[in-house]
Amino acid sequence: MDRKNVIRLCQGDFGVMKEHFQAAGKKESQVFALCSRATSERCNIYICNRLIIPDADELRNQTSASVEPSRRLQAIAYGLAYETGSCCLDAHDHPFTDSPHFSSIDDHHGRENARYLAQYLPERATTIMLVFGKDLKDFECRVWDRASSCFEPAERLEILGSPIQILEVEPQLNIFGEDPYARHRIIPGWEQGRLEALKVFIAGLGGNGSLVWQDLVGLGVGRNSGWLKGCDPDVLEASNLPRIPYACPRDVGRSKAAIASSYAHRKSPGIKAFCYQAGLESDTMQRIAAEANVIIGAVDNDGGRKILNRLSVRNMIPLVDIRSEIIPAESSYEAVGQVQIVIPGKTGCLMCSGMIDLSEAALDLLTEDQRQARAAMGYVRGTGETPTPSVIHLNGVASNLGTSQFLRLVFGEGLGGREFLHYDRQKCQLVAASVPSNLDCPVCGLKGYVGCGDELPAVEPPEKESQGQSSLILDGVVIEEPSKHGGELDSKKPRRSPERRHNSKHTSDRERAADRE
Ligand SMILES: [Zn+2]
Ligand SMILES: [Zn+2]
Repeated sequence: MDRKNVIRLCQGDFGVMKEHFQAAGKKESQVFALCSRATSERCNIYICNRLIIPDADELRNQTSASVEPSRRLQAIAYGLAYETGSCCLDAHDHPFTDSPHFSSIDDHHGRENARYLAQYLPERATTIMLVFGKDLKDFECRVWDRASSCFEPAERLEILGSPIQILEVEPQLNIFGEDPYARHRIIPGWEQGRLEALKVFIAGLGGNGSLVWQDLVGLGVGRNSGWLKGCDPDVLEASNLPRIPYACPRDVGRSKAAIASSYAHRKSPGIKAFCYQAGLESDTMQRIAAEANVIIGAVDNDGGRKILNRLSVRNMIPLVDIRSEIIPAESSYEAVGQVQIVIPGKTGCLMCSGMIDLSEAALDLLTEDQRQARAAMGYVRGTGETPTPSVIHLNGVASNLGTSQFLRLVFGEGLGGREFLHYDRQKCQLVAASVPSNLDCPVCGLKGYVGCGDELPAVEPPEKESQGQSSLILDGVVIEEPSKHGGELDSKKPRRSPERRHNSKHTSDRERAADRE
């Protein structure tokens, strides 16, 4: 089966790129970017995690029909791709057209550069060419396939963050006759097509997850070029019936995944909805989730939250985490619902907000054998799950707050300062708070791994490599020896200091700045 190529970048970087292209007016312009790679079941996803924006004097022959990088700019981009083992994305624009195509000159240089870089990049890395049309509304993109020595198309460009924009080379038309979404379309700012192009993964299809599943099926996610996928390892018990609206008594004993899936296809024939009876520890589930544009977490344990948080930050996918809890006290009880939005590179993650109890997470992630063994030694409180109290109105508030925040995220309605919602049923109170990224956070902080895809973050920055490995090279000629090379890179420091190799702090700064506008 052919694997699809997907290019993913965050809203902040896309904004900077757009500004750069627009500043050149009617002339063509160019930027480079470094990308890491994530692999899902069907896609190779190239995650842009560092931009190299040239100054005007680093571009040559800049006219309305041409642009070329200076030798120095090209050397910096290639040298950095080489040093960090990243893919090198070479993007320019054709401001004279709405529907851009690579010219024969683009073709020629692209092939030459890709063949050249393939000799020096590690096996997983390659060259990506991207051309935008006027105002960056349309694009053409290709990824060099090193095995067959030719370019393959990348037909999907995902700009994640808030708003979420999916650009596709050939967007599919609405394949349904009557328009079920007529009432949506009259809402100011609503873009039904944007929802239908999204890939959304829901983890957990119980009390909260089933309600969000129902919402997203109703909203039309997965009806066009997107998809809607979910996972849950459990089968339906009679005590789940009151909280899963589409489950009936005859479903008891079936998997929650199968029940959700049949509901989606009954409700919305033709929908691309798939559910898996599996937990998040499964590699397959993690690969599927890595392809999503939004992940919805509706799991009831910290182990699951820890995995989702990591998936989100690594693959730069916004995460909507939903939880609800009833805590019995002596004569009364507490009842709370919470929703947190994580936009990797922009907001703090679930670790930053203290939403993951690491020792609980470690217990959750034990295998059943390990759990039994520890319980026998008295280390785990009870092996038979003690049932926790739960009731549909609380799930309803929490999950619909989640859906509402999901829509704010997708349509870019602004989340600044309200990434975290806390609903207290007993006090009849809804409180909003912001979750800034903690620079010391092991997941999304300076030593974390924002946008690094499948790659592990480097332990040490590679700048001082010896044995001539870090020479800057151009057209097969070494133009900077390793010793001089450090100085060359240092002069460009503000755009890429070593500690930022695998995270997007620069992006988060910019996105925060963009937020204030
Ligand atoms: Zn061109
Ligand atoms: Zn964090």
